[in-house]
Amino acid sequence: LFISFEGVDGVGKTTQVERLRAYLESRGRIVVTTREPGGTALGRAIRRLLLHGVDDGPADIAPRAEALLFAADRAQHVAETIRPALERGEVVITDRYLDSSLAYQAGGRELTSDEIRNLSMWGTNGLLPARTYLLDMDPAMSHSRLTHAEDRMESAGDEFQRRTREAFLALAAAEPERFRVIDASRSIDEVWESIRSDMDGLLSG
Ligand code: C5P
Ligand code: MG
Repeated sequence: LFISFEGVDGVGKTTQVERLRAYLESRGRIVVTTREPGGTALGRAIRRLLLHGVDDGPADIAPRAEALLFAADRAQHVAETIRPALERGEVVITDRYLDSSLAYQAGGRELTSDEIRNLSMWGTNGLLPARTYLLDMDPAMSHSRLTHAEDRMESAGDEFQRRTREAFLALAAAEPERFRVIDASRSIDEVWESIRSDMDGLLSG
């Protein structure tokens, strides 16, 4: 079972990933939790490049180069971590997957969704999650929750965050079978309750 969490920065993806992991483990499943970018050693090197740039100059990463770096991270992530775990019958929960690329690299910047989707589908050999939880809330609100220092991507601006949110919602509307849109402006417990009840349905169905 392959599950992804999506949404703009600061909506609480990491917290809910941990809740879901604990819940599934309590039900006897073996669970691998992971993230993008940076789910593998190669991915962590790519993540440093994406978030902090190169060490010998300002990082003005061209949109196509950036999209390829995210796609390379994902390709390694699938080959090294996700597919092997799924083949062992384990549950994989990832904090971001290809919808982040569609929302950020296509929704927010200059590339088309088709280009990004084709890139990602090639890189992952077509692997899609069985369920994607989109944690949705007003980016003005989620941004104020972030406690760590901003990285290169997070400082991209309010308008960019708003467009990214809309892009996520459009993706969810286009694939209602895979996506569940969760109102993440509620308390952690209420958000978790929505996820848990959907997950119970998924496990029993
Ligand atoms: O969620 P996380 O903090 O790991 O994401 C790192 C940064 O990369 C975030 O600022 C996020 O907005 C950005 N990102 C992106 N495109 C992706 C995945 C993440 O721009 N495909
Ligand atoms: Mg972040």
